[in-house]
Amino acid sequence: MRLILLGPPGAGKGTQAKILMDKHRIPQLSTGDILRGAIAAGTALGAAAKEVIDRGDLVSDDIMVGIISERIDADDCADGFILDGFPRTIPQATALDGLLADKGLELDAVIELTADTDTLVGRILNRARESGGARPDDTEEVVRNRLAVYRKQTEPLADYYKNHGLLRTVDGLVPIDDVSAQIERVLG
Ligand code: AMP
Repeated sequence: MRLILLGPPGAGKGTQAKILMDKHRIPQLSTGDILRGAIAAGTALGAAAKEVIDRGDLVSDDIMVGIISERIDADDCADGFILDGFPRTIPQATALDGLLADKGLELDAVIELTADTDTLVGRILNRARESGGARPDDTEEVVRNRLAVYRKQTEPLADYYKNHGLLRTVDGLVPIDDVSAQIERVLG
């Protein structure tokens, strides 16, 4: 099964991706985790991405498409994958369509988790306080920018995938188990 989890920062994409991963035995491909891993490892990619991420802006489409194209070729993606945090722009979505077509693969569904901005800011700042090791991009100013970038650049993907007949929208503000139950229902 090949899925995309779409939704603003703090909507619970990572949590739901992990639940789906255990249930369906397919990997979660989180571009945010891949980029943070590159920063921690001190690679050239990490160095190029760090400032952009710390501001809450988006890393270039070319870099992100290259990362995902390579990642979905790996053996562990043979039975599918869950994309978490990618695509984030219309050019990324069209590039993904092209590279999946080249590989002879199709998406099964795009699950959109919805939530309002003020709840998300509160959630992310709470999560940062509770986890102790707050991400550098979890300050209120940067979180608000990440959400503004989402509304402007990523939210249009909902219509894009609706037009492709792939969009399944789920309320991201209910308890975790209820979100999972909704997802299983829409996946049928
Ligand atoms: P996330 O963990 O998904 O919230 O991602 C953290 C940050 O990594 C984002 O705010 C972006 O700066 C960057 N990032 C992650 N995925 C992408 C992507 N698909 N396109 C561009 N930038 C990304």
